[in-house]
Amino acid sequence: MHIAHVAPEMAPFVKVGGLGDVVGSLPPAQARDGHRVTVVVPGYAKLLAAAGRTPGDGTPVEVGFPTATYAGVVHSFEHQGVRVLAIEQTELFGRPGIYGNPEGYPDNGLRFGWFVRAALEALGALAPVPDVVLAHDWPAALVPVFLASAPAGHPLKGTASVMVIHNLAHQGLFPLEFGGYLGLPDAQLGPGSLEGMGLMNWLKGGIVNATRVLTVSPTYAHEILTPAFGEGLDAALRSRGSALTGILNGLDTATWNPATDPHLPRAFDRDHLEGKWQVKAALQEELGFRVGDYPLFGIVTRVDAQKGVDLVAAITPWLLEAEGQIVLLGSGHRPLIKPLVDLAPYWTQSIALVERFDEPLAHRIYGGSDFFLMPSRFEPCGLSQMIALRYGTVPVVRRTGGLADTVRDVDERPEDGNGLVFEHADPGGLGWATGRALALFRDDRARLDRIRRTGMLDDFSWDGSARLYDAVLEEAVQRVRPATEA
Ligand code: ADP
Repeated sequence: MHIAHVAPEMAPFVKVGGLGDVVGSLPPAQARDGHRVTVVVPGYAKLLAAAGRTPGDGTPVEVGFPTATYAGVVHSFEHQGVRVLAIEQTELFGRPGIYGNPEGYPDNGLRFGWFVRAALEALGALAPVPDVVLAHDWPAALVPVFLASAPAGHPLKGTASVMVIHNLAHQGLFPLEFGGYLGLPDAQLGPGSLEGMGLMNWLKGGIVNATRVLTVSPTYAHEILTPAFGEGLDAALRSRGSALTGILNGLDTATWNPATDPHLPRAFDRDHLEGKWQVKAALQEELGFRVGDYPLFGIVTRVDAQKGVDLVAAITPWLLEAEGQIVLLGSGHRPLIKPLVDLAPYWTQSIALVERFDEPLAHRIYGGSDFFLMPSRFEPCGLSQMIALRYGTVPVVRRTGGLADTVRDVDERPEDGNGLVFEHADPGGLGWATGRALALFRDDRARLDRIRRTGMLDDFSWDGSARLYDAVLEEAVQRVRPATEA
């Protein structure tokens, strides 16, 4: 198959969260399986620099809107067996941010509307054209809409589309009238497609029009059919019936490997956990903590209500009393972690709040922490808990979405438990699970080390999940082909 991905992020070039990791690791896994794979991403200045590209050095592409035409350049290069098409457009993507978070750039509709149109131009010009295009989250969600309304004779008329939902909470909402400006046909602007609550909802359009809909874990695929998790799109999702599937994300296990990780001061693996204690001591020293046998809790996250970071902040005084050390790497909505922000200046030896994106430090936190806190209110898949498991760092998670699919509670499953799981998204729930973590640390270190080793055995490579993707993509291709070939 010729598989194309249209996405707003791709590790290692640009990454905001897990979507970037997935687009950086699934396409190479598909290429290793013998598929021809193309990834289309915006040519952010940062991406072009990271890929060693000279600005302006590519094939011209032009997309016209009623009041303006934007010209861009398509950079084409190979990365891990994958053809990357990075579409440069300085006015729209030459700025430092990706989405302009937390509020989002005011022209995001124009930016990603242009990007999708340009991406389809670039894909339509390939020989052979893709058999199937995967659209990743709202920035790419107009791909299935445009493909579903492609006129006869369009080069992508026989191409199937798959809407991949990494996070239903971000939908791409814009005024309906703007749809016409972007070149969407009127027929797509009604309640049967893009319209939702009087606005144009890109993700809804993607869900309704895609040949197949995928999300990133089996549990999340069930949860989003309910009003509690559906973010207003549960009815649209239910309408797709069996066309919706959940497949657990894989990890780039070459990048996330404590035995070879260049960011760690010392390598370790499940047979040599002593290396981990050195990584912990180095991390304590780096953060200005007391170096010694204190339970170290790591958090690497976007600071967002989704991630339950407010719950971590709420239990911080209690963790400090138990001689816990807490490092939180992440930025976003600061008021959510106010108790932590307020305490940090007085507890410099026990609290480190690092409010930035820092890949090397993230690796050292995964490597050097005893426990990883991830009390998400919802979690489509979550890669951080998988990374923590690979680094022998025991995850403390809420039972939801991909966390429920990857973390097994040690008290429910004494034989093969790999973490601590709680149900209720409140400080009591997290406090209860964290209390069990502290008890293991204090009273049963041998069992704790066994739990670490169990987690380090889990297989989070793409091997299994890439096969499951294959099956869904094959099905999507078959569904579109007979209709157009008839
Ligand atoms: P989400 O995609 O919802 O943000 P995931 O757990 O799926 O959550 O993926 C998060 C990814 O982003 C992980 O690879 C994590 O290590 C990384 N990450 C998040 N915040 C930071 C940060 N401040 N610095 C470095 N890496 C980060």
